[in-house]
Amino acid sequence: MKVAIIGAGFAGLTCAYELEKYGIKPVLYEKNNFIGEAYEHVTAILEIVHRPIKDIVDYLNQDLGIYLKPVNPVDTLIHNSPNNRAIMKGNFGYFYKRGREKTSVKNQLFSKLKNTKVILNEMADYKKLSKKYDHVVVATGNPNFTEELGCWQEWFVSMEKVAVVTGDFNPKAIVMWINNDYAKNGYAYLAPFNEKKAYIIMVVPCITEEQLDSYWNVFLNTENIKYKIIEEYNLKHKAGLVYPHRVQNIHFAGTAGGGIDPFLGFGQMNSIKTGIMTARSIVKGKNYEKLIKKVIRNNEYSYEFRKAFNRMSNKDYDILINLLDLPIIKQLIYNTQINVLKLGGEFLAKLNKRYEIKESNKKSFY
Ligand SMILES: Cc1cc2nc3c(=O)[nH]c(=O)nc-3n(C[C@H](O)[C@H](O)[C@H](O)COP(=O)(O)OP(=O)(O)OC[C@H]3O[C@@H](n4cnc5c(N)ncnc54)[C@H](O)[C@@H]3O)c2cc1C
Repeated sequence: MKVAIIGAGFAGLTCAYELEKYGIKPVLYEKNNFIGEAYEHVTAILEIVHRPIKDIVDYLNQDLGIYLKPVNPVDTLIHNSPNNRAIMKGNFGYFYKRGREKTSVKNQLFSKLKNTKVILNEMADYKKLSKKYDHVVVATGNPNFTEELGCWQEWFVSMEKVAVVTGDFNPKAIVMWINNDYAKNGYAYLAPFNEKKAYIIMVVPCITEEQLDSYWNVFLNTENIKYKIIEEYNLKHKAGLVYPHRVQNIHFAGTAGGGIDPFLGFGQMNSIKTGIMTARSIVKGKNYEKLIKKVIRNNEYSYEFRKAFNRMSNKDYDILINLLDLPIIKQLIYNTQINVLKLGGEFLAKLNKRYEIKESNKKSFY
C-alpha cells in the first residue's frame, strides 16, 4: 500500500510511526528543510483536559507506544484575573521542548522512524499526491486544504504574540492572565524553558495583525512585565470543526482535521491521537470518524467553554478566580479525576443554548 503524508508535525510523524508498525513504508513530505519549528518554545500537555488519563508520559508510552521525554513536569498553575490570583499545586502534566534541536519533541518522534522516506523542502500538493498514492494524509498544521475541499467550519480566529524572555522563573509553573483590557476574552500565559528562560504568549481573538502590538503593549504595562525580550513574533491561529475527515483517499489529521481545542488553542495530544487513528483506519479499513469521535467530542466541549468565556467581563473573571481559589473547588477540579471538560462542557452547552435563544428572541422583538 502506498501512503503519502503531508507535514512532519505531531500528526504526520505519529501517523508514519504507526504505519511502520504495520509494515507500511510511507513517504513523508515536509515543506521546511528541517524537522521541528523555526522558533524555539515550550508547550504543555495538561491532564485536566485529557481525563481520565492520569499521567501523560505513561499514557503516551503505555497506551500509544510513544515515549516522549518532557523538559519538566508542571506542578504549579498560577491564574491571574485583573484583581485576583489563584495558585494551584499538583501533578498537572508536562512541558515539552519545541524547536529544531534533537531533544525537541518533534525530533524525538522523528528519531523513531526507521522505514519512512522523508522528503524535506517539498511543498506538497494533496491533489497531485492523491493520484499517485493509495492514501494521502493531510497533516499540514493548518486548515487550508480542508477549507479548499469544503470540510471546514470556522469557530475561532485569533492573533498571537509570542515572546521569548529571560529572567528568573519557576521551571515547573505556568502563569496565566485573563483580562479583557488587552486579551478581549483571550488570554496570556508564561511557560518556562528553565530557571532563566521562558516564553510568553498572548492570544487575542478577532483582531488584525496591525492591532496586535497595541494590545501587547497594554498587556506588558498592565501586568508590569519587565523581563528582557530576546525574540518576538506574531502568529495567526484558527480553530474550527472539520467534517468529513476523509474525502476519497484524502484523510485529515491534527490541526488540519480540526484538532486544535478552541478554548486554549492546545492540540498536541489531539494531533498525536488523530495521526495514529488515521494510520489505523488506513491499515484496518476502519471508519476514521468513529475512531476520532472522542477527540472531536472533547473539542466540542471545549468550544462551549470558549463561547461562555467570550461573554465574560473582567468582574466575572475576578469572581471565577476567587472561586478557583476556594480549597474545596481547587481540590475538586485539580486533585480528583472528575472529567471537568465533559461535565463543564455539557453544563455550559445548556447555558449557551439558553443565552443564544434569549439573544435571538431579543433580535426578533426589535
Ligand atoms: C506558540 C504556540 C504554542 C502552543 N502551545 C501549545 C501547548 O502548550 N499545548 C498544546 O497542546 N498545544 C500547543 N500549541 C498547539 C500545537 O503546537 C499544535 O496543536 C500542534 O503543533 C499541531 O500538530 P500538527 O501535526 O497538526 O501540525 P504541526 O505541528 O503544525 O505540523 C505541520 C507540519 O506540516 C508542514 N507543512 C504544512 N504545509 C505543508 C505542505 N503543503 N507540504 C509539506 N509540509 C507542509 C509544516 O511545515 C509543519 O512541519 C501551540 C501552538 C503554538 C503555535
